Amino acid sequence: MDRTPSEMVEIKDRLIAIMGNERWVSDDPETLANYGRDMTENEPKRPDFVVLPESTEQVQQIVIMANELKIPLIPYVAGANVGGLTIPSDLGGITVDMKRMNRVIELNKKDKYIVIEPGFTFGHLRRLFDTEIPEFRYSFPFAPPFTSVLTNALLHGLGSLSVLYGSADNFINGMEIVLPTGEIVNTGTQAVNRQEVWYGRAPLPDVSGLFIGFQGTTGIVTKMSIQLLDRPPVLRHFAIIPEDPYDFLEHFVHDLTKLSVCDEIGIGYFPAKVGKGLVPDDMLDLMAGMMHYLRFQKKTAFVKRIWPLLKAITGNKPFPLVKKLSPLLHMGRSDDDQAWLITGITIGAHDEKIFKAKLDAVKKICKVAKPPVLLLPTGDFGDLQKVFMSILDLPTQLPALYDLKAGGGLTWVGSYVPSSRVHIGMKKGEEIHRKNHFFPVIVMRPHKQDHYFVLRFILAFDRKSKEETALARQTLQELAAVILDDCKGVPYKPAGWAVQMLQDRADPPSIEFLKRVKQFMDPNGIMNPGRLDFQ
Ligand SMILES: Cc1cc2nc3c(=O)[nH]c(=O)nc-3n(C[C@H](O)[C@H](O)[C@H](O)COP(=O)(O)OP(=O)(O)OC[C@H]3O[C@@H](n4cnc5c(N)ncnc54)[C@H](O)[C@@H]3O)c2cc1C
Repeated sequence: MDRTPSEMVEIKDRLIAIMGNERWVSDDPETLANYGRDMTENEPKRPDFVVLPESTEQVQQIVIMANELKIPLIPYVAGANVGGLTIPSDLGGITVDMKRMNRVIELNKKDKYIVIEPGFTFGHLRRLFDTEIPEFRYSFPFAPPFTSVLTNALLHGLGSLSVLYGSADNFINGMEIVLPTGEIVNTGTQAVNRQEVWYGRAPLPDVSGLFIGFQGTTGIVTKMSIQLLDRPPVLRHFAIIPEDPYDFLEHFVHDLTKLSVCDEIGIGYFPAKVGKGLVPDDMLDLMAGMMHYLRFQKKTAFVKRIWPLLKAITGNKPFPLVKKLSPLLHMGRSDDDQAWLITGITIGAHDEKIFKAKLDAVKKICKVAKPPVLLLPTGDFGDLQKVFMSILDLPTQLPALYDLKAGGGLTWVGSYVPSSRVHIGMKKGEEIHRKNHFFPVIVMRPHKQDHYFVLRFILAFDRKSKEETALARQTLQELAAVILDDCKGVPYKPAGWAVQMLQDRADPPSIEFLKRVKQFMDPNGIMNPGRLDFQ
């Protein structure tokens, strides 16, 4: 911040007075450096202070002070958005870390919602489901357990139940927000009944949208009601491995979604080494060999035929035998960067009879699929089932993702694209990954019964290498162009450069309107400047 030393002392004193304790205010350089960077290619920049409020009233006092002195505020929970969204602008400012506000304000089982604060994480939510409310579930992202449920919903997060309900903002019933001018307001039905029952957003005009997707530029959300979903008593996971990944995305996955029997559909296209640290090395090798056998040696139909026999003679644990047989089968190997498409599906049902009917419907289309696909219950993975369940039992940690290239760089461009074009995006995206010497890691999920798709390209890179960081930056832009131009999609949680790219293509009056909304909400431009910075 461009302030004199005595002004800085005054700001710090006022923050300490608001917090009532100097412990929750920091200008220690190491602390500031940690808050000013993330795992991405975005340049680190330091805030001037970090504060950790514990109540809406304290947030309000911080905002009133910042608005009076025109100091930037950067709302923050874990900084794990993978887009540089909590890195301060050149103006510096105060990072407002919401971690201490991690309470459950209300758990309403009858009306099926929970009111949470911003610091309430997916780890907290998992514990709540495991200990108090096993009858409910929620859409979990593949994000680490220390990330916030509330920010994920604000950022249009994608999760395990996306195929049924769409992105996470669809679960929001209402919010309490401290506006950039310091007023505390509510959106949703509890604005009328004064926070007694937070049951939905309709039928008032839905102003929740003024805070969703805005990356903390229109206010600080201090409470949010999210919907809890009934958890069906029967829930089982399966893997589907297609011989032809491109055809699978163009045709099969849409036919599968049309059946309306899957509670979860998640698709990953990545090399086996992404499982490093989770799956033993010899099993990773075996799986890479098997994938090669299915896809490049076109043996899917053969494996489908002999799989029941292998299961029968091994007591449902065929993998050790496959390992022994692999030299005889001449499975072959691709290079380590070859990606494989694997789709995880979950079928839920209220009883075994309904479950069986749903599974039969899936089996039927898998049986006749051309090119062939292999459907495997996770039980078929034998000893590996535990590993797979630890990945599927969200939230999860994927240790290899952070350091596959050494140097700890992880970045991505994620997007929502029309379902009809996701296969184009995957193919072109893979070409760009390869051209620029990144192995492909691509995540896809159908949303809201195939109304749209998530398409996310992930790059692991060496953050210590300037050249590789620059190449990651360039690759992201090429991938974003595929999303915008070839798929007619839109990047989500967009970093500054992606905002620029989408603005270049967007309808000018619509961008002008967004600018006006931001200006109206935050007249002094104090909220997370540099984000969604439409020119
Ligand atoms: C390995 C990995 C995998 C991931 N997988 C997924 C995935 O599958 N699906 C998915 O959706 N996400 C995924 N994520 C992204 C991320 O975890 C979520 O978007 C997350 O919930 C937001 O991160 P955070 O809680 O750290 O928020 P932060 O990064 O701290 O904040 C995110 C944004 O919200 C703003 N903000 C923070 N608090 C508030 C507030 N109280 N009011 C208003 N604005 C606020 C910030 O200023 C910032 O713009 C993944 C991340 C990692 C690292």
